[in-house]
Amino acid sequence: MKLSGQPLLSEEAIARRVHELAEAVSGDHPEGPLLVLAVLKGSVHFASDLVRQLSVPVTLDFIRAKSYQGTHSGGSVELLVKPTAPIRDQQVLVVEDILDTGRTAAALVDWIEAQGPAGLKICTLVDKPSRRVTDIRADYVGFDIKDQFVVGYGMDYDEQYRELPAIYVLERE
Ligand code: 5GP
Ligand code: MG
Repeated sequence: MKLSGQPLLSEEAIARRVHELAEAVSGDHPEGPLLVLAVLKGSVHFASDLVRQLSVPVTLDFIRAKSYQGTHSGGSVELLVKPTAPIRDQQVLVVEDILDTGRTAAALVDWIEAQGPAGLKICTLVDKPSRRVTDIRADYVGFDIKDQFVVGYGMDYDEQYRELPAIYVLERE
């Protein structure tokens, strides 16, 4: 496997889009405050850049899910890290690196909904709508991409490449 020579999404393109997403999120929640749940590990850079541009007060917490692609179609998701911040009656914004099949986000939404939030929205930097097997959709999407595997800006392949400031396609050699 090797990285595409040119990034699919440059540092500058990501920064511009994150700024636009922050304006949209802030505009939709003028009253604040927001409980931002960053989904570990892939969304750390995105969540960090996003929250620093929000103009509403924020509580930042983390959630981590591990999904198992079983032989049965549903798959299953286990929560490895649960947020410590109370969720009840809070306006929650889930911040994801990428929505692929949507299984992880669907499971997170089920769990968060069960905690009784006042509202729940999803913000994903990257979306691969052609891969979806659930009816989950994000309220805020940075970039729609086709069915290809991307790394960088937090996203990994076997724990590599998270540190890259831009997003690249991982290609077969
Ligand atoms: P899901 O299929 O549940 O929507 O996505 C599960 C997880 O698979 C994502 O949160 C992400 O960690 C990983 N994933 C899906 N597509 C990609 C991709 O193109 N690149 C990387 N690095 N991870 C991906
Ligand atoms: Mg992820």
